[in-house]
Amino acid sequence: MTVEFEEMVSLFKKELELCKLKPTETMAVLTSGDIRQDYAQAFLTAASELGANAFELKLPPVKAGISGSFGVTPLTDNRVAVECLKKADLVIDLVLLLFSKEQLELQNSGVRILMVVEPFDVIKRMFPQESDKDRVLHATELLKNAKELRFTNKAGTDVVYELGQYPILTEYAFADEPGRWDHLPSCFAAATSNDRGVNGVVVLDKGDIFFPFNRYFQDPVTLTIKDGFVTTIEGGFDAMLMKDYIESFNDPRAYAVSHIGWGLNERAKWHSLALDDQVFGMDGRAFYGNVLFSLGPNSELGGDNDTPCHLDLPMKNCTLYLDGKLIVKDGDVVIEEMKPINSIATS
Ligand code: FE
Repeated sequence: MTVEFEEMVSLFKKELELCKLKPTETMAVLTSGDIRQDYAQAFLTAASELGANAFELKLPPVKAGISGSFGVTPLTDNRVAVECLKKADLVIDLVLLLFSKEQLELQNSGVRILMVVEPFDVIKRMFPQESDKDRVLHATELLKNAKELRFTNKAGTDVVYELGQYPILTEYAFADEPGRWDHLPSCFAAATSNDRGVNGVVVLDKGDIFFPFNRYFQDPVTLTIKDGFVTTIEGGFDAMLMKDYIESFNDPRAYAVSHIGWGLNERAKWHSLALDDQVFGMDGRAFYGNVLFSLGPNSELGGDNDTPCHLDLPMKNCTLYLDGKLIVKDGDVVIEEMKPINSIATS
């Protein structure tokens, strides 16, 4: 075993313990083609060391689909594979099942799912602590009890979401309960608005993040939002790119406003995209004190918009209120229960 592989096994073992994988249980690793064979091997080794049963299910790559879109996965139309995974207790998803109906089907059968797609150094740096769960659950409770979310920034954002219709997305980076989906690494909570319940203006500022393009906004982009949909996109090059991308889906539902929340991972680094544009981008998405604004589907939280066009747009230095109560001020979380717990590094 190489040093890195050993380190991977020991970190993944910690993760499986956080996921409460028991010796009586079975873990499946879902892979496709050649992607992350090292992760698959390390998870299988880690599960065995914990005394659990484990297997790898390897599928051919996605047959068709729109590049960069969510919802079409190697599991799409592969019935036997879906049925097989339903028998596992924990599925390690290395292929990105996010926003697919197959993922929901597995969750509904009680399968715990953990998505792992980030490079190892990102996972290692952002690795969860047990206490993250309480902090994220606190955010979840706040969102669950709120009727209205408003956020602003100095670039001119002022937008209001009506809340209450849909459940809350809770990501603390381990799948420890039946039917729970999570993503290693993460650490945030997010809501989605009531149907047609978002109005205002969002100004993405220079330096905010533009996924799935994995770039920083070079100039402000102004979005006008009416009844839950973006009606105008104004600005320079980035606005043009955004319009062109959304338009390419030929789907009016692609203009819908998607999930909204704030990041709580104090180990995340905003600049990481500048170092490696191959990252999935959990640094930006879970960055402590960000506002994670997004466009596209709400089907993951029970809505009926399953457009494959999904843009995550993490914003820095925003101020966010729930029913008028200050939660994040200029990019800093002001609620004690959600602040980082001083602790020693995990490794
Ligand atoms: Fe998203």
